[in-house]
Parts: sequence; C-alpha cells; structure tokens
Amino acid sequence: MNIAILGAGAMGSLFGGLLAEAGASVTLLDVNQQHLDAIRHDGLRLETDHQTRTITTLAACRPEEATQVPDLLLIFTKTHQIAAALGSARRLLGPATWVLTLQNGLGNVEAISAFVPPERILVGVTTIPADFLGPAHVASHGGGLIRMGHAADAAHTDHPGHRPFNGSCRLCQVVDLFHRAGLRATADPNVWAAIWEKAAFNAAFNALCAVTGCTVEQIGWVPSGPEMALAVVAEAIAVARAAGIPADLEHTQAMVLRSLKTHAGHQPSMLQDILAHRRTEIDSINGAIVRAARERNIPVPYTEMLWTLVSLIDARQGAERPSLQPSSSDRMAATIS
Ligand code: NAD
Repeated sequence: MNIAILGAGAMGSLFGGLLAEAGASVTLLDVNQQHLDAIRHDGLRLETDHQTRTITTLAACRPEEATQVPDLLLIFTKTHQIAAALGSARRLLGPATWVLTLQNGLGNVEAISAFVPPERILVGVTTIPADFLGPAHVASHGGGLIRMGHAADAAHTDHPGHRPFNGSCRLCQVVDLFHRAGLRATADPNVWAAIWEKAAFNAAFNALCAVTGCTVEQIGWVPSGPEMALAVVAEAIAVARAAGIPADLEHTQAMVLRSLKTHAGHQPSMLQDILAHRRTEIDSINGAIVRAARERNIPVPYTEMLWTLVSLIDARQGAERPSLQPSSSDRMAATIS
C-alpha cells in the first residue's frame, strides 16, 4: 500500500516511521521545513521502548510538492489544521484514495468530508503516545491501542442511531498493515463510542490541566478536582447517548480515576500547547461537545465553562503570537520616532 501521512509531527512521524520500517512506501507531508529537510538529509530518528533507530526509507516533502496519489492518506495534523492541510493536498486525493483519521476530538470526519466522500473515510482513536523531540526526532513510550472503523458504517453525532458494522475490505487491509508495523489495531463496530469516550476524557483532563497548569495527578490535590473531571465526563457521555452512541459512563469515569494515579507527572497535550503558546484543540473537544449538547437541549455547564476559559487563553496567546506583533522594522521605526 502506498501511504501518505499528512501532518508528520509527533504522531504522523511515529506512524510513518513504523509503517516504512514494515516495508510500506510512505511519504511524510508537512509544512515544517526544518523537520522535512532533516528527515531527507539524515533520516527519521525514532525512539520506542525497545530501541532507537534511524529510518532512511521515508520520502518527505510539503503537500504541494508531492506527486504520487496514495492508496491511503493518514491525516495527523491538529484538528483545526485539517481544512488547510487537505486543501493543499487536494491533488493527491484520487478516486481510489482512502483517508484515515485517528486525531483526537469530534467533527474530524465532517471536516474531511469536504474533500473526500464519507464512504472512503476511516475513523478511529488511539491511545498510543508520541512526542516530537526536534527536527527528524520522535519518541513513543508505553504503547497503546488503535480502534477504527468505517466512517460511513458507524454511528456518529449526525446519525440518529448506531448502525451495524459491516466490515470493509480496505479497513481490514489497514488493520493488517498496522499489525505488521507493530501497531496494535482492531476494526471496531463501536468506534464512535470509543471516540466519544476519549473526547469525554480529554474534555475533562486536557481542559482542567490547561486552565490550572496542573499535571493529571495534581488535579487530585483538592476533592473538587476529580469531582469536576467526573462531572465533565458525565455531561459528555450524556450527549453521546442522546446522539445514539452507546458510550460507557462507568468505563470512562473509571479511566479518569485510574489516570489520577497512573499518569502521575503527565502534562496533557492541551497544557503542553498552552505552555508552548500553540493553539489548542479545545474547539474540537469541549467546543464540539457543547455544540452537540445545544442541538439536543442538554445542559453541560462544566464542559462549557472549561471551553470558554481555554478559548480565552487561546485567544490571548494568539493575539500575542509574533505573527500578529508589529514587524521588527515597525518596532524599530517606533523606537526611532
Ligand atoms: P503535532 O503538532 O506534533 O503534529 C501536527 C503536524 O501537522 C505538525 O508537524 C505540523 O507542522 C503539521 N501541519 C500543520 N499544518 C499543516 C498543513 N497545512 N499541512 C501539512 N502539515 C501540517 O501533533 P500530534 O501530537 O502529532 O497530534 C496530531 C493529532 O493526533 C492531534 O489531533 C492529537 O490530538 C492526536 N493525538 C496525539 C497523541 C500524542 O501523543 N501526540 C496521541 C493521540 C492522539
């Protein structure tokens, strides 16, 4: 299978590296020129639990420079970057190209559907972690799972009920390919439940940690911390169930309580984004839950409050970003005058 990875940061580089190592033909498509140049020059340095190696069989370029139409395009940008990224890769979306998203949050299939019919979209969720350590250098420790399904076969927010899974040849091929690359994947008829459960979990921890600067463990330092996390999860799961998605409240709340102990020093990605002054994915996590709740008249006050608070931090940091600051020549002119 000829694979393109659109958005080759932490996750995209990890998946691309492992798939290339398993013998697939992989092209990494990204806009980080330093990262692309370093991969082309020296290969991708990939650290996993058992080994560190350099993968030299990856092609890497900007989306607009690629020419080969892939069989599978795996999108791993941040959720708010989907439209821009697919827009620049539009030429690569042939009539037989399938797109797979394992991004966090909700609304990704809808965003991708503007470019590819839902019949050719695979959707899923992964607990595999990855860190971007620098140009051409990523790490992943601790392992995890991938659950995925066919977007058109599975229930999601816009569908009134859960439709049965009918399997898909392309889906089976992708699961098989992932297995050969050491990525533990399953085709899951309940993929939308898994997606909502992860969104619920992230709406609680990512947002709480982003606002407070706490690690996951520190949320447990006052009793109302875990109480608020559990309340957010309950709100999100109520919305999922109202949308006909059989998300499991007990399971997701148990995950929250377990994480307080097992993810001791972990800073969720949303907190990492805030600390690095990058835009967060709050809009496709808490924001998407609130929008789905409003459509169904379900009150979700905790989720909504966290959405507003993180959006305000995002907005303030966005206004402070260098691209929106006066240019150095403007500043110099101001100093001189
Ligand atoms: P990342 O920021 O490391 O990678 C995103 C990449 O997309 C960057 O390299 C960026 O340069 C690239 N990009 C941005 N705009 C682009 C464009 N127009 N065209 C092409 N490339 C573009 O993010 P990540 O941590 O790899 O996360 C990707 C997705 O996976 C997110 O939705 C995240 O929530 C999800 N996820 C991450 C992890 C994790 O541990 N990192 C785990 C599970 C899910």
